[in-house]
Amino acid sequence: MPTYARANLAFEKGEGPYLYAQDGRRFLDFGSGIAVNTLGHAHPHMVKAITEQANKVWHTSNLYRIPGQEKLAERLVANSFADTVFFCNSGAEANEAGIKMLRRYQYVSGHAEKNRILVASNAFHGRTLGTLTAGYSDKYREGFGPMPDGFDRVAFGNLNELRDAITPQTAGILVEPIQGEGGICAAPEGYLEGLRKAADEFGLLVMFDEVQTGVGRTGKLYAYEWSDMVPDIISSAKGLGGGFPVGALLANEKAAAALTAGMHGTTFGGNALAMAAANAVLDEVLKPGFMDNVLAMSQLIRDGLATITRKHPGFIVEVRGMGLLLGMKTVPTNVDVVAKLRELGLLTVPAGDNVVRLIPPLNITKTHVDEALAAIDAAAAALAQ
Ligand SMILES: *Cc1c(COP(=O)(O)O)cnc(C)c1O
Repeated sequence: MPTYARANLAFEKGEGPYLYAQDGRRFLDFGSGIAVNTLGHAHPHMVKAITEQANKVWHTSNLYRIPGQEKLAERLVANSFADTVFFCNSGAEANEAGIKMLRRYQYVSGHAEKNRILVASNAFHGRTLGTLTAGYSDKYREGFGPMPDGFDRVAFGNLNELRDAITPQTAGILVEPIQGEGGICAAPEGYLEGLRKAADEFGLLVMFDEVQTGVGRTGKLYAYEWSDMVPDIISSAKGLGGGFPVGALLANEKAAAALTAGMHGTTFGGNALAMAAANAVLDEVLKPGFMDNVLAMSQLIRDGLATITRKHPGFIVEVRGMGLLLGMKTVPTNVDVVAKLRELGLLTVPAGDNVVRLIPPLNITKTHVDEALAAIDAAAAALAQ
């Protein structure tokens, strides 16, 4: 179906951060299939883990225990605020589960009237009807109505507006700690802490959409760790399976108690093959020093972009983000910059607010950064206005 305006490019092989097109051209992948390929392409440990599991059992459904699921949940719990995890297949599906949990928590707490969720301007949460309604873009909703009810929008980053918007019907707050699709917009200093305080004051739950920011992307396993607060629920997906579709909802006991047996489900979610992939991702991401590399490569990219900004005025307006979730707001249109970079052999992804996302695999090295910066320098020379 014509749902995508695809680049006329097909890859037949990947190795680390490189992709090889059918015509033999090599590309350096600083898009990671939209922040998905945490360890790059065809990572030997992932190939081995998936191959081994493929020879045993792929799928049994959640009617039975799934050892890989128990293992992955234990590791996510041990390395985050969460007490418990629900596995699914995508970011939108994880967010749907979280939305249900926010409402159901209030319902089982005797507050059935609290069923509205505060969401932010510039937010993106997925393409299902519920997550489209939680998201900001009117364009994505056009012609798909009627949309579900129960979301109230506030300006991202404005605590006063958030507090003013809380009513006796408010169940919880859903935000991205760093807005990805919106243009790599970090919450202002103190916002996430203030949001937690307001939630506690009014008996609300806090849910973070960490679908893009999670699994080491910002240099912490989850981005909330950079703040002085802890959410009740986070959704995770994109990088979690390293290229295999895996979503997860992480929650504390208090929130999770709302979803008892039979209250939520999924056929594919957390199947043995998916869990083998996600466990293999965590094997690498949780290794000592892994996050140090994310932060070191981030700094190298930032330093290089600062040099390019001085050398070619009229190209980069601003560099945003944390770790290897970086956004470069450009003077030329981001679509033109992404196309030029692709011509030069570097894959990137556009985002809102005229931003070009630099979201490489997290295990890149200085050689890859130097190669990417050379391409960005060449694009700047060609396109600077
Ligand atoms: C990509 C994304 C989603 C949607 O994930 P899908 O797997 O495409 O459903 C939701 N929230 C955020 C923040 C995302 O970046």
